[in-house]
Amino acid sequence: MRYLSTRGHADRKQFCEILLEGLAPDGGLYLPESYPQIDAAALTRLRQVWQSQGYAALAFEVLSLYIDDIPSDDLLALCRKTYIPEVFGSKEIVPLKPLQATGQAQPEMFLEALSNGPTLAFKDMAMQLLGNLFEYELARRGEALNIFGATSGDTGSAAEYAMRGKKGVRVFMTSPNGRMSPFQQAQMFSLLDENIHNIAIEGVFDDCQDIVKAVSNDLEFKRQYKIGTVNSINWARLLAQVVYYFAGYFQATKSNDQKVSFTVPSGNFGNVCAGHVARMMGLPIDRLVVATNENDVLDEFFRTGIYRVRGTADTHETSSPSMDISKASNFERFVFDLLGRDAVQTKAIFGEGLSRQGFFDLSGDPRFAHAATTYGFDSGRSTHADRLKTIQDVFASYGMMIDTHTADGVKVAKAHLNPQVPMIVLETALPIKFAATIVEALGRQPERPPQFEGIEALPKRVQVMKADVALVKAYIQQHCD
Ligand SMILES: *Cc1c(COP(=O)(O)O)cnc(C)c1O
Repeated sequence: MRYLSTRGHADRKQFCEILLEGLAPDGGLYLPESYPQIDAAALTRLRQVWQSQGYAALAFEVLSLYIDDIPSDDLLALCRKTYIPEVFGSKEIVPLKPLQATGQAQPEMFLEALSNGPTLAFKDMAMQLLGNLFEYELARRGEALNIFGATSGDTGSAAEYAMRGKKGVRVFMTSPNGRMSPFQQAQMFSLLDENIHNIAIEGVFDDCQDIVKAVSNDLEFKRQYKIGTVNSINWARLLAQVVYYFAGYFQATKSNDQKVSFTVPSGNFGNVCAGHVARMMGLPIDRLVVATNENDVLDEFFRTGIYRVRGTADTHETSSPSMDISKASNFERFVFDLLGRDAVQTKAIFGEGLSRQGFFDLSGDPRFAHAATTYGFDSGRSTHADRLKTIQDVFASYGMMIDTHTADGVKVAKAHLNPQVPMIVLETALPIKFAATIVEALGRQPERPPQFEGIEALPKRVQVMKADVALVKAYIQQHCD
């Protein structure tokens, strides 16, 4: 399997080469040259693997189709080490939870529980594997890596929990001082591992991101200090997410003649892009429903064919903050496929076009209609009022508490139900991470998993710093030798 860039660069690379890289050299995103096809016999075999050997074995089977530069035994060992019940909270790793009241003939829909990993959001599903892949590949090369990033919450903590104690890896994570939820701050700052560095920047998330960009543009610094990233454009993260679409499908169906649909709370289009990949491989997915919050860049595209990135001032701070994006960094992957893999046009609209004009318009292009027909995409948006109502409804009807992002998914899914096709909504976080909105909706505190009792009172390790690139660089230098 070789990987190419969506912007047409001539290089073809292997999995482990792109594992530690971010963007392709031409600014594009990596995709496999072609999607491996799962025919009926292969799907039957994967169902058996899932049923008899579980999630880690299924992950190994799916990953093997895309990774041919790690020996099979090693890859299997990495999957087994990653997806264990002690880390993800259940034998199934990603159990389906039916939303079904007594007396109802069939569930209204299912939630696929992806949020029982160490940081209680779905990002653990991919990040935990990434941590083990990084440690493996760095040891093989005899290299080290310093991961430098910016987080407004979920990504940073998932990365830190995945990389803590890993040989060859250090993490330097910036976050806006005092702006994450108290629970999120406690999660990150209570990590005392020597290879984890929390830097709280006096400013907002954009200040953190600007610092990361400035450091990334300093190629000499980047090379000297072996700076890398773990952001959502990393192909390995996306690939790890493909696996749970298969696991969700096998749990919701009895035979391979059946189809399912997925609704995915979306921000950077990473999670739902993994669904697109699964569908392209031949997994019987009917619809892929993209759910956004008030930051509806993606919903607007699927409704109109116009993709219009937002400025900082037009990006809303919402009660589903992990979906507060101004542009969707993985979207280029899907558009590349939508345009029949035309790299010249992809480069034109995402490269110069987008930075000059701030939008592109495919409404007059006959291929735009294929997003809904050939590729199965639908979309919808949700607001703060919708979230509150949905959290209340699900609690009243099913006695289940859902988080604000999952609520966006459930709200949008309700508009796309089909009695013939089970609907699976991806549960992307647990309510305890966003307790204030749960209290607003239900007048009570969300349940707290026992391992998180009292974390707000634990000792914290965090360096507060002015929003100044030079200070941050000096801190990295000091802690690299
Ligand atoms: C990151 C995140 C999302 C958005 O996922 P994308 O892959 O960026 O589309 C949704 N919900 C939660 C809780 C998240 O942490």
